[in-house]
Order: sequence, then C-alpha cells, then structure tokens
Amino acid sequence: MAAKPFASSADLGVKEQTLEVLADGVYALTAEGDPNLGAIEGEDFLVCFEALATPVAARRWLARLREHTDKPVRYLVLSHYHAVRVLSASAFDAEVVVASEQTRHLIAERGQQDWESEYGRMPRLFEEPESIPGLTWPTLTFRDRLTIELGGDRGELVLEFLGRGHTEGDIVAWLPEQEIVFAGDLVESQAALYTGDAFHFDWAAGTLDRVKALGAQQLIGGRGAIARGRDQVDAAIEQTRDFLLTMQRTVGEAHRSGGTLKDAFAATHAALAPKYGAWPIFEHCLPFDVQRLWDELSGIERPVIWTAERDRQVWDELQG
Ligand SMILES: [Zn+2]
Repeated sequence: MAAKPFASSADLGVKEQTLEVLADGVYALTAEGDPNLGAIEGEDFLVCFEALATPVAARRWLARLREHTDKPVRYLVLSHYHAVRVLSASAFDAEVVVASEQTRHLIAERGQQDWESEYGRMPRLFEEPESIPGLTWPTLTFRDRLTIELGGDRGELVLEFLGRGHTEGDIVAWLPEQEIVFAGDLVESQAALYTGDAFHFDWAAGTLDRVKALGAQQLIGGRGAIARGRDQVDAAIEQTRDFLLTMQRTVGEAHRSGGTLKDAFAATHAALAPKYGAWPIFEHCLPFDVQRLWDELSGIERPVIWTAERDRQVWDELQG
C-alpha cells in the first residue's frame, strides 16, 4: 500500500464558501470544513472574528462582506494563535487587533514555528504566501473577559476566555442578546478536531461546560456547518466532547498498560474512524492529536512546539 501523503499536502480541492446572515448585522462564512469566519456590525463599525492564512485569502472574504456593509473594521478578534487564523490580519485594516494575553504569549513563543508547520501541513490554505507581511501581533489583550459595546440597540459583544482547550488561550465571541456564539476551534461541528496544541482534560470538562452554559441558539465552530437551535448547538458541543473523551480512553489505556505511541494511535484510529473518519482533516490531524495527548499523559504540561521537522517525524512514525 502506498504511504499516505503528509497531513493535508495532497488536499488541493477548492471549497465552496457560503456567507450566511445569522441575525441583523451578524455574519458567518463557512467553507465545507475549511476555517470559518465571522463578522458583527456595530452602529458605525465592524468587528471581524478570525482571519485566514494569507491577505489574499482574506480579501475574498472581505469582498463578500462588503456586499452587506461598508462599515470600517474597528476590531479584528483572533480566537487563538494558529497561523491559518491570524496571518492574514493585515488585509482587514483593523484599528485594533484583539486576542487573549495567552495568545499573545504563544505568538511570541512559537508563532514562527507554527507558521512553518501549518504551511507544510496544509499548503492549499496559504494562497499567495508571499503576501503575508510577518507574524500578527495583537494590539489589545485581556485575560478573562472583554466587552465591546456595539452602539445603538445592537447590544454588546462579549469576548471571553473559558478555560484551556484547543490551545492555551482560546476565546469565544458571545452575543448575549442575539444568543449567538462564535466558538473558534473549541467546538467543531461535523469536522474532526485538531488537538496537537490542546489541553485535552480541561477542554473536555470545564471549558466545554462553560461554552454550553452560555445557552447559545446558534453556534459557529472553527470548521464545519453552523449549528442552529439548542439541539444542534448541544450536539456540536457533545460531538467535540465525545471525540476528546474517546481519545482519553484509547490513548490512556495504551499509556497505562505500557503500550507504545503506535499502539495508542491504532486504537484511537479504530475507535474514532467509524464516526468521524469521513470528516474533514481527520487523517491529517490524528497523529498530531495522539502525540499531544500522549505527552500530556506523560506529564508534559505545555504542548511541545511543532516544527516542520517534528511534524514529519511524528507523521512517519504513525501514518507512514
Ligand atoms: Zn486552531
């Protein structure tokens, strides 16, 4: 059997992007499993939620958004530090780039390595990579919570750190009046999870509980379809939790019983594939996911930095 191509390096299929209006002045762009985006209108400004990998890619989203509103972007909110969510920031011409303090720290600590790693893993998302001017630096950071008054009768937008999860510093954007949450990569709806930089135990417990407790009627996850109504919102959250708990069980068993990383990977693949195997980026993510959980179980508190070399090493060991 031929070896599987590295990560998503062979995924070249263009995805269709769909802009949806979730409420008056609230927009989401989904893309068949590619990273989702959001935007919220204030009275005389825009808040954009998440960027993409390159300015050229982001300009296409902004052109779609400009069919609905020409308000200037005051805030660009970054849910976390991953390259495909931040490196296009310059295209937004935002007055303020907002992230958690933890995200700022992670960009300083590992932003460059993450850029190189993600570019190697999924080159298709890096459209015209030379248009990236450099790392993206937040200009406004907060630890737990930041509220943006939208003006008029539009209510407020609450940015909140709900605990460690997909990374050490993920935030969600919550519209309490419209009951809409942009959950970033903390929740995936019908898409596989990337947990290579995650805190599996915090994420599956308190962090997801707090996302659920918001009581959203619409949820936009990091990838995949928009969840509408409490049933779908809860299903997306519980799908995310089930993925994490299944990993905890299979990787945990192999780790406890003196098995190898390869054993853990095989058991996890077998347990997850029937339910999640056909979803976007499943094969791409799983080796990195299992390696990180293995590290966590081995007492490595903070995720080891992924470099292009470490990516290949882990891939060759588990998927090669
Ligand atoms: Zn991410």
